[in-house]
Amino acid sequence: MPTRSILWFRKDLRLHDNPVLQNAIKESQAILPVYCIDPDWFRELPLGFRKTGVNRAAFLLQSLDNLRKNLRAIGGDLQVVVGPAAEALPKLVRQHDIQAVYAQADIPWEERQEEKAVQRSIAPLECQFQRDWSHLLYHPDDLSFEPEETAATFKTFRKQLRKGGKVRPLLPEPVRLPLLEGAEYGNTPTLADLGFEEAGTPAYKGGETAALERLQYYFFDSELLTRYKWTRNQSLGDDYSSKFSPYLALGCLSPRRVYWENKKYEAEVKKNISTYWLIFELKWREFFQYLGMKHGNRMFFPSGIKGKELEWKEDQPLFDKWRRAETGIPFLDAHMRQMNQTGFMSNRGRVNHASFLAKEYGINWTWGAAWFESQLIDYDVCSNWLNWNTQATEQRFTNPIWQSKKYDKKGEFVRHWLPELSEVPAPKIYAPFAMGKEEQAQYGLQIGTDYPAPEALSSKLEWAVKRIYSLTTRNL
Ligand SMILES: Cc1cc2nc3c(=O)[nH]c(=O)nc-3n(C[C@H](O)[C@H](O)[C@H](O)COP(=O)(O)OP(=O)(O)OC[C@H]3O[C@@H](n4cnc5c(N)ncnc54)[C@H](O)[C@@H]3O)c2cc1C
Repeated sequence: MPTRSILWFRKDLRLHDNPVLQNAIKESQAILPVYCIDPDWFRELPLGFRKTGVNRAAFLLQSLDNLRKNLRAIGGDLQVVVGPAAEALPKLVRQHDIQAVYAQADIPWEERQEEKAVQRSIAPLECQFQRDWSHLLYHPDDLSFEPEETAATFKTFRKQLRKGGKVRPLLPEPVRLPLLEGAEYGNTPTLADLGFEEAGTPAYKGGETAALERLQYYFFDSELLTRYKWTRNQSLGDDYSSKFSPYLALGCLSPRRVYWENKKYEAEVKKNISTYWLIFELKWREFFQYLGMKHGNRMFFPSGIKGKELEWKEDQPLFDKWRRAETGIPFLDAHMRQMNQTGFMSNRGRVNHASFLAKEYGINWTWGAAWFESQLIDYDVCSNWLNWNTQATEQRFTNPIWQSKKYDKKGEFVRHWLPELSEVPAPKIYAPFAMGKEEQAQYGLQIGTDYPAPEALSSKLEWAVKRIYSLTTRNL
C-alpha cells in the first residue's frame, strides 16, 4: 500500500462517483491532488486561432476552482501546475517521495500520449501508475466485447450493449481525503496567466456544484425532462435540452449519475419516451467513446474513420467567413455567433454547420472540427471529431434554409443573435438576401452592408430559397 500518492485529476473534476479518487483514498495514507494545465493546449494553430479558446479556458478554470473548494470541504486541496504533466509529476514524485500516481484512463491520442509520457517519467522513480475509467457509462470490463470490436453503427452498438452491458451502481462520495502535508496548494491560474488578454464569457458556470444543480433543475425541479424528446432540437434559451455536455466533458458530472437519476425520475415522477431518449443520447456519447478506442488517430484524418478518399478545398478566406459567422445564411450565422460568444451551440446548429462547411463549401472538415474544438465549452475529443466525421463523410446534406423553416419557424432564434435582422419577418428571415433592395430597405436592411451576402449558392440551396419564396404568398 502506497503511503504517499498523487491524485492526478484529468477530465474527472468531481468528488461524486469518481473511481480514481475512491481508489486513491482507499489505498493511500496521504494524497497530493494535482491538476496540470499544459500550455500546449493554448497554442496558436496554423489556421489562425488558438487550439483552446478563451471560453473553454474560462470554463476549465471555474471547474478547477470549484473542485478545490469541494476538496477542501473534505480536508483536501488542489495544486494546479502550469506545465506538461510529464514534467510536473516526476518533479513532485521526487520532491514528496510519492509511491503511486492515480489517474483517469482516457481515450484520445494526445491524452494517451500524455498518460504514457507520465508513466515513462515516473517508472525510474519506482512510482506505480494506476488508471481507471471514470467518464464512461459502461466500464469496458463489464461488456461482452472488446473496444476494438465496437460495431460500426449505433444501432448495432446498442445491441452489443444489450448483451450483458450493465451500468455500475454509483460510488459513495468520500467524506475525508488524507491530504499530503507540506505541499504547496496555491491558487488556480488566471486567464492572463494562460496568455489571454480578454475575459471569457462562457454560457454556463463550470464545476461539479453547478453540474449537480443543473441535473437537479432539469430533472426534478422543473421536470423539463418529461418534454425533452419534443424540445431537444430547438436552439433558443437554456431549457430545450439538458446542457449536461459541458459538465460531462470535464468530468464535473458522471454519466452514471445522469443514468441513475433518470431511473429515479422514472420511478418517482414519470417514465416516458423523453426519459428513454435522454439515455439514448447518452448512449450516442458512449458510442463515440468506444469508436474512439477502436479507431484511435484515424478520427482526425480528412478521409475519416472509414478512409473515404474525398477531395477537400483548403480555402482559408472562405473558412474564415464561416467561422466568423459571415455566411449570409442567418440560421448558420446566428448559431456561430452564439458559439463564438458563449462557447455553446445546440446540436441542431452543429449538424447544420458541419454539413454546410463540408458539403456546401467543400472545405476540409477537419478545419471546422478544429474551430469547434477551440470554441466549445463542452469540447469532447471523440464526440466532436466523430460527429464531424459522420456529418462530413456519411450523412446527406442538411439544408440550413429548410432547417430554419423547420426549427426556427418564426425566426426568434435568428433575431436573438442577429439583431441586425430584427425587423425582417419570417419566412424572409430564412434567406434575406433573396429580397430586392427596396424590400430590404423596408426592413431597415441593406444586404452587403448591414449583413453579409452569401457566396454563390449550390442548386440545393437555391431550390430551397425559391420554394420558400413561392410559398410566401400562401402565408407560410
Ligand atoms: C459537429 C458536431 C460536433 C459536436 N461536438 C460535441 C462535443 O465536442 N462535445 C459534446 O459533448 N457533444 C458534441 N456534439 C453532440 C451534441 O451536439 C452535444 O452533445 C449536445 O448539443 C449537448 O447539449 P446537451 O447537453 O443539452 O444535449 P442533450 O440533448 O441534453 O443530450 C444529453 C447528452 O447526450 C449526449 N449527446 C447528445 N447528442 C449527442 C451526439 N450527437 N453525440 C455525442 N453525444 C451526444 C451529450 O453528452 C449530452 O450532454 C457534437 C455534435 C455535432 C453534430
